[in-house]
Amino acid sequence: MNRKEQILNLIAKGYTTVKSLAEYFNVSLMTIYRDVRELEKEGKIIRRHGELLLKSEEEQSQETGACAYCGKILDRRLEFVYRLKSKAVCACCAHCGLLLYNDVQDKEIQSCMTRDFISGNPINCFSAWYVVGSSAKPCCIPSVIAFADKEDAEKFAKGFGGKVFDFETALRAVEELMKRGHQVVWEQML
Ligand SMILES: [Zn+2]
Ligand SMILES: [Zn+2]
Repeated sequence: MNRKEQILNLIAKGYTTVKSLAEYFNVSLMTIYRDVRELEKEGKIIRRHGELLLKSEEEQSQETGACAYCGKILDRRLEFVYRLKSKAVCACCAHCGLLLYNDVQDKEIQSCMTRDFISGNPINCFSAWYVVGSSAKPCCIPSVIAFADKEDAEKFAKGFGGKVFDFETALRAVEELMKRGHQVVWEQML
């Protein structure tokens, strides 16, 4: 077991401060802080009033944690979130977000949110525009980047390549590209 796993076990046993953990392992506070920060980033624990708390599995998958499609740690700037009746389903980026649609489409989607790549503002996934297969690869490949305005998407595609699609056609384009091993053969495809 590595130290981070041990830390999770120890927190469950009541070692809920950085100091007590540093004493247990006989290492510096900084060392434990580093582990704690990583565990926080991974969405496994939270810090509240100086105390370390474990997150429940459910909280992990709902709030931070991993992409429901590929398992990557979520990055707020690229997130793609379906709100269903009972829970939220989060993807690391529009690539995984689009592909998740097949899993959630019959589950009463209340809303779907992602962020405009330029402004970072939340936007409705279903009315967003997507640049698929550009040379900009902030997360998964083939890359899919969301924009509120079609004009912005087209400008982006001029600079970085790729094609501009609406939600449904972007989903089909990603599926097609995945099938072809990411080779962009737009002319044949469209
Ligand atoms: Zn993902
Ligand atoms: Zn991704």
